[in-house]
Amino acid sequence: MQEKVFAYLEANQERAIDLLKELISFESVATPTDDPAAPQGQAVLDCLLCAKRAAEGLGLSTMNLDGHALLIDDTAENDAKIGMLCHLDIVPAGEGWTHKPFAAEIEDGKLYGRGATDDKGPFVSALFALAALKNCGADLKHHVRLIAGTCEETGSADIAYCKEKGVIPPHVFSPDASFPVVNTEKGIARFSLSATLPAGTRLATVRGGEVINMVPQNAHATLSDSTTVTEIGKAAHASTPHLGENAISRLLDTLCERLMDDAAYPVLLAARDLHPLHETDGASLNLKDEEPIAGPLTANLGLIDLTDGVLTLSFDVRYPLNVNEEILRERLAKRLKDTPFALADMNVMPPHHVPEESALVQSLLAAYESVSGKKGYCMSMGGGTYVHDIDGGVAFGTVYPDEDCCIHSPDEFIPVGDLVQNAKIFAASLLRLQEQDL
Ligand SMILES: [Zn+2]
Repeated sequence: MQEKVFAYLEANQERAIDLLKELISFESVATPTDDPAAPQGQAVLDCLLCAKRAAEGLGLSTMNLDGHALLIDDTAENDAKIGMLCHLDIVPAGEGWTHKPFAAEIEDGKLYGRGATDDKGPFVSALFALAALKNCGADLKHHVRLIAGTCEETGSADIAYCKEKGVIPPHVFSPDASFPVVNTEKGIARFSLSATLPAGTRLATVRGGEVINMVPQNAHATLSDSTTVTEIGKAAHASTPHLGENAISRLLDTLCERLMDDAAYPVLLAARDLHPLHETDGASLNLKDEEPIAGPLTANLGLIDLTDGVLTLSFDVRYPLNVNEEILRERLAKRLKDTPFALADMNVMPPHHVPEESALVQSLLAAYESVSGKKGYCMSMGGGTYVHDIDGGVAFGTVYPDEDCCIHSPDEFIPVGDLVQNAKIFAASLLRLQEQDL
């Protein structure tokens, strides 16, 4: 059966490329609206309807779930055991492209466009994998549902909607990250520490960072004599803070040097010592920890702000499986006891983990190895894949180890050959899962 399925996929390569080109032509940035038919905006709905027509043209059953998601099934029976989860929304194109972001140009074997790898290309591969199984007459005793979501990049309200409607199958993989398999995601804690500055300080304004989940690239302060202090760092994602250079930590260093005689000096010193420059393991917050599955805790000081005399530091901490909210609160309380800072608020998203021994993970790893010829293994990420809130779900592809497809950056692309190879990996995975007791 697998040979027949692979032959179908190879024969349909041009059709898959054409569909990807068409999907990329939609500037489907999720933009919430009051229109009940298009909850994420017209462009997202148009892209969803394009995918729906393509799925029907391949002989699959479809259902538009109120514009929040597209459901594509091998049968109309509505009893799928296995799910594949992709998304049709994209991040904005941004600046700096050398190819047109919505033209899907092919050059040197790469198809360029926003969404090529994140996540329209993987959607096309998943769609053709399912179509191949159906059209080759594979015996799908465990039915399969492909879900195409509409707002992964803006908080995944689509997943909440799908959960509420009960449409997510029990065994789900999501080709919206990297190969081989991501089965562990760290917990994410976001919290703010605040301290009141004493009267008489020369510090007038302090601002740094754009969003809490990035290492801040810019931070600046002004003094009462209108002097300004500006520091530049290097941006990176908060889950990999060691790849960045924290502009806020630099700013605090500089302010501590320049305001030694200022009333605010003790507060600035305490702030600096909570997150020293180049420290990313949370040691100075008393949060350092590590276990072998998810790896070490990471800490990023993402935002700083001075409003009405209150200095606020906002952190994004990614924590391993042996830590929880209670532990974090306890350790922070101990650390902050003799400082001017207090915990202002904390939001926690617990870690996500699916055992490596599970039938799902083992089937995916085996299919990946046999099709790609590369070694299969499980990985941990700093958190936040599309399946973070789906029990038993794992991320599976499609960026290969040592590959960089410029996701969220200019000139995002997918190697054209990956479209069919990834479809083969998904089809082989679905075939292997048929043999499992699910
Ligand atoms: Zn994505």
